Amino acid sequence: MTTKQAPSTLQKMGLDTPMALALHLPSRYEDETELLTIEEAIHQGRFNSAQTQGAVIRNQVLFRPRRQMIVTIEDETETLNLRFLNFYPSQQKQMAVGVNIRVRGEVREGFQGPEMVHPTVRAVAPDAPLPVSLTPVYPASVGVSQTIIRKAVTQALREPSLQDSLAEFLPKELMAELLPSHDWPNLQAAITYLHQPPADANTQALLERTHPAWRRVQFEELLAQQISLKRAHAIRRERHAPSFPRAKKQSLEGGLLKVLPFKLTNAQDRVWSEISNDLSQSFPMNRLLQGDVGSGKTVVAALAAARVMDHGYQAAIMAPTEILAEQHYLKMKEWFEPLGVKIAWLSGSLKAKEKRLAQEVIENGQAQLIIGTHALIQENVSFAKLGLAVIDEQHRFGVRQRLEIQQRVGSELFYCHQLMMSATPIPRTLAMTYYADLDVSVIDELPPGRKPIATKVVKASRRDEVIGGLQSWLSKGLQAYWVCPLIEESEVLQLQTAVESFEQLTQALPDFKVGLVHGRLKAEEKAAVMAAFKANEIQLLVATTVIEVGVDVPNAALMVIEHAERFGYAQIHQLRGRVGRGSADSVCILMYAEPLSMAAKERLQTLRETSDGFVIAERDLSLRGPGELLGAKQSGDAMLRFVDLQRDAWLIELAQQAAERLLAEHADLVERHLERWLGSRAEFLKA
Ligand code: ADP
Ligand code: MG
Repeated sequence: MTTKQAPSTLQKMGLDTPMALALHLPSRYEDETELLTIEEAIHQGRFNSAQTQGAVIRNQVLFRPRRQMIVTIEDETETLNLRFLNFYPSQQKQMAVGVNIRVRGEVREGFQGPEMVHPTVRAVAPDAPLPVSLTPVYPASVGVSQTIIRKAVTQALREPSLQDSLAEFLPKELMAELLPSHDWPNLQAAITYLHQPPADANTQALLERTHPAWRRVQFEELLAQQISLKRAHAIRRERHAPSFPRAKKQSLEGGLLKVLPFKLTNAQDRVWSEISNDLSQSFPMNRLLQGDVGSGKTVVAALAAARVMDHGYQAAIMAPTEILAEQHYLKMKEWFEPLGVKIAWLSGSLKAKEKRLAQEVIENGQAQLIIGTHALIQENVSFAKLGLAVIDEQHRFGVRQRLEIQQRVGSELFYCHQLMMSATPIPRTLAMTYYADLDVSVIDELPPGRKPIATKVVKASRRDEVIGGLQSWLSKGLQAYWVCPLIEESEVLQLQTAVESFEQLTQALPDFKVGLVHGRLKAEEKAAVMAAFKANEIQLLVATTVIEVGVDVPNAALMVIEHAERFGYAQIHQLRGRVGRGSADSVCILMYAEPLSMAAKERLQTLRETSDGFVIAERDLSLRGPGELLGAKQSGDAMLRFVDLQRDAWLIELAQQAAERLLAEHADLVERHLERWLGSRAEFLKA
């Protein structure tokens, strides 16, 4: 704390050190450097802010059509009306007849000639000097005026200690080598420039944050992030984990490859060898296996589990929903039980006695493969010898659950290898920044014989036609999903519409068996319905979004989604991935109700045009920002304040290279950089 008289409101905004104030950068500027005559302002001020001044010659309060104050000012060229719809007595005084005022605003044509509505007003002497730099407008919060912030920032920029914190330390040769043609100012000059840009500054570039001064600041911020992430990476490598090299006698690994009814795709082969290599290291794996829906991630996870079990360790597979976990359980049973593997199932809905039994075999090591929901970490489960934790659709776990996973992994699961799986691709920019301590493997190829899914966008008013189409579809012996609208506000309402659709479809399709699955069903009930659907005893499955992830029924090739406009990009992409798994041509019908918002229209159009998960994820990112993709850890506390991952993508790579070089060649500088840039947030980054 060096600014002694900083008002407490500033402290609440976190603006309690010169450095914090220096980094509180303007969101825009006002140009008060130019003063026009009233006549010039009337001509140049349309759609454009103009500054002029004059003496008040009239100040009237009108009551019709509503209470308002009209102030008229005059100079030697013209007169101009200022209109205030809300005003305080103090403003009446400020603009009393005879006072000279300086005003800024847009000029428009009013009933009584040209006028400014709610201009900014300052009482000044007619010959008061003009500022030489643009006037910064800062992100503010309630109770803190621009004047207070401006004053505090100006004062902070003069603090001697700040010169020190902003001192240049990036080696010149390094910058010259990495970015030979850059025209960036040094950090101190950049910061000063952004707070006090000269009158002739390129305001467009300042606003868009592409100005060299911004580039310099953004680069510093990214550099700090890259350094701390690389550090976290190094710390992980120093931890110990059991190493699982390819065993000489690969009974389970080899056995699994033999019982599989298919050959691995090249992409599966490749990611498996990446994972296999990680498992053979003596530090914990932290890998994300990314692959579009249906790309075949499960079998890769099974191979990893087999490897670990071949070494006498346990493997656990955890999924965010009961349905998804159950699918894994059934798959693993099919593959591993013939090989004699003991599998345990643990979910929150087990009866107390079954749960105790499961916990017992997990704890005494009889269970080699453990599958379940987050009950695996919640219910006081201790593993005899856990070697691998597979976490499917990690980002779909609730915020609290995710924190719990991190805590557990940080304690007794500390030494185990971690494999996360996700069908939601992380855009490259995110992977390089927030996820830099995560190794990523990508399955970029679908198993052979998959047919592309044709997506159609249809108005809800054509529902009867859609049901007619459904009838002929089912008559061909194929199965279908009918997904009910998402009603986020009310689970009861969501259930109700699902039941209504179920009844309507049961009546409309008397020749077929229609099933219903939703979140309120008990686990066994859900499982029974899913099993019946899988066995083709049910031809049409009416479902809420509980089927969103992981369900695998190749004969189901048609999906209808009601009120598709209410779903996000990722949700529809995931849902749609339930079809297109067999050899039949697949269709997904997105039904929407009007009116459609622009955003929804664009979303549905994109989804119709592409089924490329990466394209969809990028769109999603640009729409929602990284917070939602990242989840709990980063959401509140945006690590990157000045960098926009899309606009500034090219800077990331540069910062990555610079971070590597600094760590290798100038380790002493690294501490200083982190300290000045992150301060107390450095700890947070290591978490
Ligand atoms: P996801 O990546 O969405 O989890 P799954 O692992 O559920 O995908 O696989 C989808 C389907 O593809 C499953 O029925 C699975 O058995 C099948 N599959 C996986 N790999 C192959 C392969 N190499 N050849 C043929 N079918 C495969
Ligand atoms: Mg899956």
